[in-house]
Amino acid sequence: MAKTSTSPKTTKATPETVPVLVPLALPAPYDYLVPKGDHVEPGAFVVVPLGPVKYLAAVWRRPEGDEAPSIPRKKLREILEIFDDVPKLPKVSMDFAEWVANYTLAPLGMVLRMMMSAGSAFQPPAPRYGVRLEGPPPERMTPARARVLEAARNGLIWVKSSLAEAAGVSPGVIDGLVDAGTLTTEPLPDWHAMPLDPSRERATLNEEQAQAAKELLEYTRDGFAVTLLDGVTGSGKTEVYFEAIAQCLERGQQALVLMPEIALTSQFIARCEERFGAKPAEWHSGVSPSTRGRVWRAVAEIKAKLVVGARSALFLPFPDLGLIVVDEEHDQAYKQEDRVAYQARDMAVVRGHLGHCPVVLSSATPSIETLVNAEQGRYWHIRIGTRYKAAALPALQAVDMRKSPPERGRWLSPALTEVMAETLERGEQVLLFLNRRGYAPVTLCRKCGFRFECPNCSAWLVEHRFRHRLECHHCGKFVPLPHECPSCSTEESLVACGPGIERIAEEVAELFPEARRALLSSDLTPSIADLRETLREIEEREVDIVIGTQLVAKGHHFPGLALVGVIDGDLGLAQGDPRAAERTFQLLSQVTGRAGREAIPGRGLIQTYMPEHPVIAALVAGDRDAFYAQEIEARREAGMPPFGRLASILVTAGNRAVAEGYAREVARAAPPAEKIQVLGPAEAPLSVIRGRYRYRLLVKATREADLQAYLRVWLGNVPKARGDTRLGVDIDPYSFL
Ligand code: ADP
Ligand code: ZN
Repeated sequence: MAKTSTSPKTTKATPETVPVLVPLALPAPYDYLVPKGDHVEPGAFVVVPLGPVKYLAAVWRRPEGDEAPSIPRKKLREILEIFDDVPKLPKVSMDFAEWVANYTLAPLGMVLRMMMSAGSAFQPPAPRYGVRLEGPPPERMTPARARVLEAARNGLIWVKSSLAEAAGVSPGVIDGLVDAGTLTTEPLPDWHAMPLDPSRERATLNEEQAQAAKELLEYTRDGFAVTLLDGVTGSGKTEVYFEAIAQCLERGQQALVLMPEIALTSQFIARCEERFGAKPAEWHSGVSPSTRGRVWRAVAEIKAKLVVGARSALFLPFPDLGLIVVDEEHDQAYKQEDRVAYQARDMAVVRGHLGHCPVVLSSATPSIETLVNAEQGRYWHIRIGTRYKAAALPALQAVDMRKSPPERGRWLSPALTEVMAETLERGEQVLLFLNRRGYAPVTLCRKCGFRFECPNCSAWLVEHRFRHRLECHHCGKFVPLPHECPSCSTEESLVACGPGIERIAEEVAELFPEARRALLSSDLTPSIADLRETLREIEEREVDIVIGTQLVAKGHHFPGLALVGVIDGDLGLAQGDPRAAERTFQLLSQVTGRAGREAIPGRGLIQTYMPEHPVIAALVAGDRDAFYAQEIEARREAGMPPFGRLASILVTAGNRAVAEGYAREVARAAPPAEKIQVLGPAEAPLSVIRGRYRYRLLVKATREADLQAYLRVWLGNVPKARGDTRLGVDIDPYSFL
């Protein structure tokens, strides 16, 4: 075998070969020839042929010590196109992709694919135009025009719509000034964001915040370190980590803030603008493809200095990341289940490590994993024990539904409605929380007992009364709400069982017809603009009663909110997975933490049939530490994460016997191991989704065991899945349904 070097110097005569990673379910790059006279470097984007198709792909690097391919050159195909004007994937992104693929057992190509989901980044940027104040003032001056001149005084090029927004005028006013020659039209630079100014005046921190900020600045000064910023809701964690962001920006490096919900980003962006004088770049599913493309490039070119985004923002090509903040780090939205199954909070720590960059995990209710890391000294731990403005934490109380039951067919207990009435009387806001979309979770026939079930899933259809239909929450199938029972044909015999958020709204409308109400549920607030508008109305107290799902539970700051009523405190506890208690504690702490954040004292009432349950008892007693101590001990005893490790294997197929048969075959191939236990296969609790039968295996390992190595050997010995059978691996699973 002739040794060919990839170094350009020695390959003057023969063309270079380079590994190229195609963003498909491929475990490794393939080799390609570089066209004669060209040269490419690792990270460059290229077009290559694969089979009959052309793919946009990335030039990878050869592992150290590896030799060039032994495949005869004649068999190698050539790179078709080299994207010279697209920024290269930085080395740290390649390191990260390889790490993530190794850890999650996902194909490396699929991780690259996440890094390349960049909208229009790979097309030549379309020229965009903005306006700039340059010409003489218009002959006819109006107050609106004067506001535009004032706003545009800085002489920068403005996007028309932003200038109109900044001046509070309609776009027509801008057009008028262009016609008058006062504003001139000019091409916008690719990335036109205003520079952030870390030295602007900041909020005056109170003593506790100042102490926290001082410590945080030390831990995030330089290099990799993880800090848990652990402060009660409303303690000003954001103000504190803003200091760390400022420090990072002053060093000239990039900063990334991850948020679990898009809905949270709008308040955050407004606060950033106030603190740093400009908006950060946004990255999430609500951002248009053309903007995504521009953000991707601006990140790669180090023009975007501060990015706020959903978990996928972690895969942006930051060449010089100097800080990662994971806000609400305990949130389950950080776990992605489909395709590459990863936990963004954990991967943020990995990314920080690979890029020598500090990581801040912020929460009022940290995950058990993070808290244990802090307690064992692997992470720094900063606590803020009181709310800013000395606002007290809300007083929480359990409403024992056995003692104060609602009327038949009602869901609000008299104890709750009484306090609601008092609160509204005082002109303060109420939030009712129920984490269940729709009107009723089950619909049945009073006459024959027929229940509406999804034909594709093992799940009941959920009534959505506002949309007049029954919907499956797993596959999206829906049918119009019928007038008669499909089984016995009795008319008007269908009854809704149990409450959903729409049903609570109906009850509230009957009880408090005068109150201004807002119903917030992801299916009823389809666009981000709608959602932001409703959140603004709540903030500005144009709403008296908010009725919402988890969409309103997290992170928002509603100054007028005095009372939070939890309709069903037991809902999350009924799910029997290892994190049910933790999750319920976090969610209920978060949602009740929305109350009393400013001058008004807050209260929380939790309706429950088991007030003595440890989770409810700890919430009511305000004894967070007791809850955590107990939960950590329980995990330790059971060998559950973080004291043991889990992986889940899900086998699915369109036929039950096939799915079960293959799952058994997989189980039989499991090599014996001392520190690793394989449980199952068992039919999944959600045994059918979208017409596919589901079987689960659970792999339980001690912390010392090399779970990934074990799985690789095992799955390497399993006969390949045939036909429509699929096998999926989820390391550190959060979902067991
Ligand atoms: P957390 O994230 O801990 O729940 P936030 O950072 O959102 O708390 O702060 C809660 C509210 O208090 C926000 O409206 C914030 O602007 C305000 N706040 C916190 N600290 C200060 C401060 N030092 N000066 C002025 N306002 C503050
Ligand atoms: Zn379904």
